[in-house]
Amino acid sequence: MRNYAIGIDIGTTSTKVVLFDEKGAAVAHHSKNYPLLSEEPGAAEQKPDEIYEAVNESLRETVRKSGDLAERIGFISFSTAMHSLIAVDSDGTPLTNSITWADIRSEPYVAAYKSDYGDEAVELYKRTGVPQHPMTPLFKLQWLKNDCPDIFQKAARFVGIKDYILFRWFGEWKTDHASAAATSLWNMHTKTWDEEALKLADVTPEKLPTLQPSTYYWEQLSDVLTKKSGLDSSVKVVIGATDGPLSNLGVGAISPGDVAVTIGTSGAIRTTSATPILDTDGRTFCYPLTENHWVSGGPVNNGGIAFQWIHDILQKDSDSAVHEKLSRDAEQIQPGAEGLVFLPYLTGERAPLWDAQAKASFIGLTLRHDHNHMVRAVLEGTILNLFSVYSLIKGQVADMEVKIFATGGFTNSPLWKQIVADIFQTKVSIPEHTESSCLGAVLLGRFAIGETKTLEEAPVETKQYEEITPNPDHKTIYEELFQLYQSLSETMQSQYKALHEFQNKHKKESGK
Ligand code: ADP
Repeated sequence: MRNYAIGIDIGTTSTKVVLFDEKGAAVAHHSKNYPLLSEEPGAAEQKPDEIYEAVNESLRETVRKSGDLAERIGFISFSTAMHSLIAVDSDGTPLTNSITWADIRSEPYVAAYKSDYGDEAVELYKRTGVPQHPMTPLFKLQWLKNDCPDIFQKAARFVGIKDYILFRWFGEWKTDHASAAATSLWNMHTKTWDEEALKLADVTPEKLPTLQPSTYYWEQLSDVLTKKSGLDSSVKVVIGATDGPLSNLGVGAISPGDVAVTIGTSGAIRTTSATPILDTDGRTFCYPLTENHWVSGGPVNNGGIAFQWIHDILQKDSDSAVHEKLSRDAEQIQPGAEGLVFLPYLTGERAPLWDAQAKASFIGLTLRHDHNHMVRAVLEGTILNLFSVYSLIKGQVADMEVKIFATGGFTNSPLWKQIVADIFQTKVSIPEHTESSCLGAVLLGRFAIGETKTLEEAPVETKQYEEITPNPDHKTIYEELFQLYQSLSETMQSQYKALHEFQNKHKKESGK
C-alpha cells in the first residue's frame, strides 16, 4: 500500500526532504545547504538553479535512503519559505537571482507608499493580509522596475522559488494560494490576484503564475522528475503551501484557539482560525492554509538572537557562560527580574512595531541588578514582545481555551519555556518531532489526495509532546509587567529615529 509520503521544505538556509510513514514518523531524510548572497547593501539573494539542484539531490538521496520503502511512497508535497521573487524570460530562464524575504532594497518604496497612500495602504492590507514591508514581492517589483528597468521590461513572468522548481519539473507556471498571499498581490476575499496591487506593481495576471488552492496536485510525476528522483511515475505531487502555516499544521496548532510559538534566531507567533483575522492597523499577517484554515500572527526579528547576544557578552568574562548555565542561574531571579525590563529590538523589529530603526534597551537598572537579572530580563523581554503581537489578534480568536505549541532552539532552556507558559498563563506543548513544515506538507498532502477527511486528523506519532504547566503564582506579576512593557515600548518609539541617526553618524565618524 502506498501510505508513505515525502515532505519537501525549501527553506532559506537549506532544503529539507523527509520521508514519513503512515503514522507520521520520519523514516529517512536528506538536506542540502546553500548560501545567501549579498553583493550590495540590503541584498539577500539565492541562485535559483542551486536551489533546484538542492531539491533534486535531497529528494534523490531521501528516496535512495528509503530503500524498498520507496515503492510505498504515494505522494510528494511542498512547503516553501515565503516572499521570494525571480524574474524569468519567456523560456523560463531566470533573469535575476531569487530575491528572498530578507532582502530590504525595496525599503524606500515601502516608505514612499506608506506616506503617499495613507488610508489606501490600510485598505490594501485588508485585502491582502500582509503588512507593508520590503520583504513582499509587491515592493520588490517596484524596486526592480526602477532600479533594474531592463530586467523588468525583459521579464516574461515574475515567480517565486517554489513556482520555479515546479516549472522545471512540469513546464507549467502554477502557484498555490498561500505562496500567492505572501506576495501582497493576492486578494484574500476574491482569491484572485488583486487588481489594485497589480497596478501598484505594474504587472498583469499573465505575468504571474496561475493560481491553485494548496490542495492542488499533479496525478503523476513528469519524465524529468521521474528521472531526477528515482521514484516511479505513479507518485502524485501536491503543490502545498508555505512554511509558517504548514508549521502550524505540523505541530498540531490547527484548531481555533491553537497558537504556535517559534523561537529560533528570530521568532514568530501564529494562530489558526476558520476565517481571516486582521489587525485594524495592519500589524499582523493573515495567510491561507486551506479555504477554511487561516493563519494569522507576526514575525519578530528578536528571538534567540537576543539570548545569543547576552550569552556572547558574558562569555567574554567567563568560560562557563554556556546557554544552559546562564539560563539556570537566571532561574534564581524572581519573575519580573526585580523591575528590570528589556525591550528586545536589537535588530530593529518587524511585528508589532514594523520599525527597522527600533533599538533594544534595558530599562529600570539599579545597583541591585546583576548579570543574572539581565539574562532573565532578556528571556522575559523576548516573550513579552511575542505576547504583544499575540495581543493584537487575541480579541478576535474565538473565545475558547488557548493552547500553545512551541518549537525552536529556545526549547533547550527550561526557564525560557516556563516563562512562555507563565506569561501566556496557559499550557505549552513542545512536539517531540522536528521538521514541522515538512510534516505539515505531508499532512496537507494526505488531506489533498483524500486520505484524510479533515486536516485535524493527525496520525499518532505526531502527537507526542513535552508539556509545561503555567505557574498560577506568576500570573499577576506578569500581567503587571506586560502593562509596564507595553507602556515603555510605546514611550521609546518616538526616540528611535534620533537614536538611529546618532548611531549612524558616529559609527561613520569612528570608522567602525
Ligand atoms: P535557527 O532559527 O537559526 O534555526 P535555532 O532554532 O537553532 O535557530 O535556535 C537558535 C537559538 O536557540 C539561539 O540563538 C539561542 O538563543 C537558543 N539556544 C541555543 N542553544 C540553547 C540552549 N542550550 N539553551 C537555551 N537556548 C538555546
